[in-house]
Amino acid sequence: METIDSSEVMQKTCEAFRLSRQTIGLVPTMGFFHDGHLQLMEAGKRLADQLVVSIFVNPFQFGPAEDYEMYPRDIEGDMSKAKDVGVDILFCPSTEEIYPSGFQTTIAVQEVIKHLCGLSRPSHFEGVTTVVAKLFNITMPHLAVFGQKDYQQLTVISRMVKDLNMDIKIVGFPTLRESDGLAMSSRNSYLSPEERESALCLKKSLDLADDLFRKGEQNPDKIIGEVEQLILSHVSTEIEYVKICHSASLEDVETVEEKSLLALAVKVGKTRLIDNCLIGKASENIPESDS
Ligand code: AMP
Repeated sequence: METIDSSEVMQKTCEAFRLSRQTIGLVPTMGFFHDGHLQLMEAGKRLADQLVVSIFVNPFQFGPAEDYEMYPRDIEGDMSKAKDVGVDILFCPSTEEIYPSGFQTTIAVQEVIKHLCGLSRPSHFEGVTTVVAKLFNITMPHLAVFGQKDYQQLTVISRMVKDLNMDIKIVGFPTLRESDGLAMSSRNSYLSPEERESALCLKKSLDLADDLFRKGEQNPDKIIGEVEQLILSHVSTEIEYVKICHSASLEDVETVEEKSLLALAVKVGKTRLIDNCLIGKASENIPESDS
């Protein structure tokens, strides 16, 4: 595995792959790898000849009161895990490499960011689309793999790719969970043992909503009310949102249908966690999707 920190070297390397007719897969990450990340890399490995994984904790997608400074980092551990999975190139640019002095161009998707996390994290998705567009230009991938755990991010990226005619296949991959149901996340490392227990309320909420729907409940307010009650019965929880929305537009639904999206953001102690499922499908893994 090669490690590259220069955009120019990365771009030249990918140009050479393209000239020799090799396909390129990209998995963008912020590092501190867990098995959810590794699963995306394994998928990327299967789907492309050359797999590039980027590690960049993007300051632009964190709000001023968010955890940019304390975001967990472990570059040595990440390098060893990526090597074991068979990653071909690890791209680890510095902040100055991505945002050199004078940088002033951004990309902003307009509509699907007006819901869910976009409301509480106003500049977050603009930060995401800008950095992902840069990573796409630097690595010139044929395909890029993203997790469905960050469902809105996957939706926003898919929209950007479509709207800007980027010739890149976006592959969405199911959420990998711990054996007790907690969605894997680098931020789980912030949780105390007591908070870790409370955090199970997210997956329990998905299962509860799914169960209510299967028993015939289609009123979103009723399902949301029960889910909120369940979350608040766990210690140290604070609800940011519980929404049932259309899985493409992310607009609230009036009637819950099979495959409506249930999306949650909950603070457990100081740690903000998100999770989601397609209703009627909570216990199934959403199949690998071409978003
Ligand atoms: P992050 O490093 O948190 O920015 O995540 C990098 C990529 O991994 C994103 O596409 C995430 O959606 C994806 N990801 C994070 N957690 C999981 C998980 N538990 N299962 C599957 N994919 C995940």
